[in-house]
Amino acid sequence: MLPATRRMASTLPRSQSSAALTFELLGKCSTTRARASILTLPHGKVNLPIFMPVATQASLKGLTPEQLEGTGCRLCLNNTYHLGLKPGQEVLDAVGGAHNFQGWNHNLLTDSGGFQMVSLLKLANVTEEGVRFLSPHDGSPMLLTPEHSMSLQNSIGSDIMMQLDDVLVTTHPDKARMREAMERSVRWLDRCIAAHKYPERQNLFCIIQGGLDLEMRRECCREMVARDTPGIAIGGLSGGEAKDDFCKVVVTCTELLPELKPRYVMGIGYPEDLVVSVALGADMFDCVWPTRTARFGNAITKHGVLNMKREMYAADYGPIEDNCGCPCCRPIEEEGALGITRAFIHHNAAKETVAAHLLTLHNVWYQLNLMGKAKEAIIADRFPAFIKEFFAGLYTDKKDYPSWAVDALRGVGVDLLEASAD
Ligand SMILES: [Zn+2]
Repeated sequence: MLPATRRMASTLPRSQSSAALTFELLGKCSTTRARASILTLPHGKVNLPIFMPVATQASLKGLTPEQLEGTGCRLCLNNTYHLGLKPGQEVLDAVGGAHNFQGWNHNLLTDSGGFQMVSLLKLANVTEEGVRFLSPHDGSPMLLTPEHSMSLQNSIGSDIMMQLDDVLVTTHPDKARMREAMERSVRWLDRCIAAHKYPERQNLFCIIQGGLDLEMRRECCREMVARDTPGIAIGGLSGGEAKDDFCKVVVTCTELLPELKPRYVMGIGYPEDLVVSVALGADMFDCVWPTRTARFGNAITKHGVLNMKREMYAADYGPIEDNCGCPCCRPIEEEGALGITRAFIHHNAAKETVAAHLLTLHNVWYQLNLMGKAKEAIIADRFPAFIKEFFAGLYTDKKDYPSWAVDALRGVGVDLLEASAD
C-alpha cells in the first residue's frame, strides 16, 4: 500500500467555485474525516479548518482591527441583529457596509439575527412569516422575516451571510414543533435565496436543523444540499445537548454533505470541541467563549484554561503560555509585546481592561493557531497523532479524557486510549 500522502497527492487538490467563493481541498486525513482546505472569499483567502472570533457589535471587544489582524484572523463574525438595531441599516448603507464601518478589510460572516431573538428575547414568537418580537429599546412590536434578514445582511455586505432559520434548542421536547422548525427553515432558505440581492459578491449559507433526531437531520441535509448554496452550516447545536448527541449530529450531517463545500458548525469554541469536530469532518467554527472568558481573566492554553486571578500567578514572571507565538507571549526580539508576564496579567485581571485586551489577544491567537496546526497535521497526514498530542497536553491522566471525545474519535478510527505512541 502506498503511503497516505502519496495516495492523496494523486487526487488532491481539487476545487469547486461558485460566484463569490472557491473551495480548494488541499488534503484529507486518511484515518478520520478531517479535511484541510483554502476558502477564497471576496475579501481574501482563509485557511480551513478555522475558528472565527465573534465581533458582535462590529468590534471584537478589547481589540482594534489592527490587533485582530495581528492575531492572523482573516474572517470574523458580526451580529446582524445588533448591527440592525445600531448603527442601523441607514448608517450601514451610508458608509458602504460593515467592512468600511469598522475598518476591517478582511472577511466578515454575519448570522441571520434569528438566534439572538430567540435567545435574548423571551417574547419572541415564530410564525411562518418570520420572528415577531418586542424591540428591546422601546418595546414596540417588530418582525424579522427572511427577506428583512437578507436586506440587512446585504447592507452589512458580509462575505458570508446566514439564512434566517427557525432555531430551537436541540433538547426541545416537542417532536412536532422540531419538525415544523426544520421544514420551515427549508422554506425560509428559499425565501432568502429569492431575496438575496448580491449573490455575485456575498455568499449565502444554508443551516441544517432537525434537533437531535438523526433521521430529521438527514432529511434536512438532503433538502438543503439540493438548494446548492456555496456553503453549509449545521445549526441548533451547543444548546445544552449531551456532547455524545452533538457528535452524532455532526457526523451524521458531514457524511451527507458534498465534499467540495465548506461545513460550518455554529456556536462551538472549546478547543476539544474544535479538534473533535474537525475529525468528524467539519471546517468552520465560531463562539464568543474564548473572548468572553478572556475578559473574566482566563487564558486558554495547551494545558487547559488558566484562571489568571489565582494567587499562584502573583509572582510568576513567565509569559501567559510558554512558547506561545501570540503578540503578548512571544519574546520582545520577535516583536512581542514588551514581555508581558503572568504576574502583570494577574495584577490587572478582571480589574483593568488591559488584562482583558492582552488575554483576548492571546486566546484568539491560541484558537487560530490550534486550527492552523490541525491544518498542517492533516496535510502531512498525521492528524491522528495531532489529536493524541492535543489530549495528552490537556489531561495528565488518560482516565480523565472525556468519554464523549473518546467515543466520537473511536468512531472515526482514532483510539485515544491506545497504549502505543505514534
Ligand atoms: Zn500567548
